[in-house]
Amino acid sequence: MRSLSELQQLLAQIDGRGYRAYKDLRGAVNLGDATLFIDHVQGDPFAAPSKLRVRVPLAAAGLPAPLLETRVRRLALADLLARRAADATRTSARRGSGKSGVVRVDAGGQEVLERTAVVFGDDWVELRLDAGLPAAGRRVLGRAAEDLLCGDVPRIARAGLVAEPADHAHLDTFVRCVENQEALRGQLGDAGLIAFVADGAVLPRASGASDRPLTQGAVPTTSPDTLRVSLRLDTPVDGATELAGLGVPRGVTLVVGGGYHGKSTLLQAIERGVYPHVPGDGREWVVSDPGLVKIRAEDGRRVEGVDIQAFIRDLPGGRDTRAFRSDDASGSTSQAASIVEALEAGATGLLLDEDTSATNFMVRDARMQALVHRDHEPITPFLDRVRALYDELGVSTLLVMGGCGDYFDVADHVLLLRDYQLHDASEDARRVAADHPTARQAERSGPFASAAPRVPLAESFDASRGKRDVKIDAPRVDTLRFGREEIDLRGLEQLVDGSQTRAIGHGIHLATRFMDGTRSLAEVLDALEAELERGGLDLLDPFHRPGEHPGHYARPRRYEWAAAINRLRSLRVESTTDEAPATP
Ligand code: ADP
Ligand code: MG
Repeated sequence: MRSLSELQQLLAQIDGRGYRAYKDLRGAVNLGDATLFIDHVQGDPFAAPSKLRVRVPLAAAGLPAPLLETRVRRLALADLLARRAADATRTSARRGSGKSGVVRVDAGGQEVLERTAVVFGDDWVELRLDAGLPAAGRRVLGRAAEDLLCGDVPRIARAGLVAEPADHAHLDTFVRCVENQEALRGQLGDAGLIAFVADGAVLPRASGASDRPLTQGAVPTTSPDTLRVSLRLDTPVDGATELAGLGVPRGVTLVVGGGYHGKSTLLQAIERGVYPHVPGDGREWVVSDPGLVKIRAEDGRRVEGVDIQAFIRDLPGGRDTRAFRSDDASGSTSQAASIVEALEAGATGLLLDEDTSATNFMVRDARMQALVHRDHEPITPFLDRVRALYDELGVSTLLVMGGCGDYFDVADHVLLLRDYQLHDASEDARRVAADHPTARQAERSGPFASAAPRVPLAESFDASRGKRDVKIDAPRVDTLRFGREEIDLRGLEQLVDGSQTRAIGHGIHLATRFMDGTRSLAEVLDALEAELERGGLDLLDPFHRPGEHPGHYARPRRYEWAAAINRLRSLRVESTTDEAPATP
């Protein structure tokens, strides 16, 4: 290990030389109370920045011991320490050409996620960060590099990882808040709920471009008496040991109300409620079953060998819907495929919004049934399947539907939003349904689950691009480049962080190892998750050297992993239904 003065000497020696001379920096530097690791040195000032780690002994970090005790607390604390370090990067300056002097810490947004930015060892805590080694043109800027590596980087790491006694209250509040959210989530199952929205929660966001809470004129949530539940907190909040709020029961629940009365906003909060939120988000006491999957129409998406006969059969031209494939699915077939894929990945509930659904997938009213005979309509609308999803498979649905009252016949509960206020309209809806019977005929179609699960074929995944065997990147949260393919992830509304997208890409590559031609997609995901459980997210790095900076990853859910695989245009699956004759 180098001493600080040896690093300074080395930088003085290479000052003014070609940029490649920086390669000599690889290795560890003793910073006294911390160790700097220079794991990867960029090839030129415009390349991806260099990868550094700073490790601080826990004895020197001063973190409150109780906050390290459980897995949830460590996850929350690591998330917070990364945010503190990221805040400290704001004062680092650009020094030279390209990315010279730029320091980056991969901290999260409003959601709290497991990520690789900060990790705990038995007796240390480590920050993984990126920095652009300074250059003038393509020459080493030794003095600027010294300021960066001996000044900015240790300062940023200490700002993140080292807690003064005065910081303890803030750390404690953040960690306990996340822990409380997980405590609430843990009670959903026994309470027969799929989601909980505490009274007082602030659901609307500042704007379409900002995920921060709306500050002006936000109407806090109030739960109707009939659907109010109380859940216990692990740590009291403002003296309260319980939180009261709306419990969304299992089964089929509609959200109705006039346009612009807050329906989609409620659904979106519940979508995001599968993750914990930072204190002050407004949705920190909105918690959902982690198995809820948002489903939307996504015409143009690719579909590979999905059994959608539960919703769609007898397509024109005799196309098989027991192993439906399309390079350009329609609104309805894409939505059907997304539901079946979510079930395949183990979803416990579905979230749908009329705003983003295909009308012909959702409804077919009495008049249309009279005009277009059942024999000429391949689609069995969701309306006729939503009950069976719950009654036969135990999969709940929460559906925003302001435009079609035919759903009253199949709903267990109807939530009404009026001026952003929640009301239980279940009884009223039942009365309306009785007073205005629908003239439509219930329609029925094939089974939900395919007899033969899909088996993804490893050879259909090619991560190579150009000279690189593995080239996977996530330029944006909703775009994944896997080898030469670009996967459009705009339909995955519960994907929240670009580092999740990167994790999905590298995870798909890792998962091909488990694709042996017999494992189903669900089994491949099980194996991938078990592998990451064993070795942590660091394993996602395809060039992984144990202990070194793995790059920036945040944990995605298996549903988003599955959804990305399912949208890959090269995906091929094997399924014994391929050869089966079309059913009448
Ligand atoms: P809907 O789906 O019923 O048409 P939205 O959920 O899209 O309505 O909400 C319409 C507008 O109202 C959005 O701009 C949203 O941010 C805002 N909004 C939603 N809920 C609230 C609330 N509780 N308080 C204040 N504004 C809200
Ligand atoms: Mg809406």
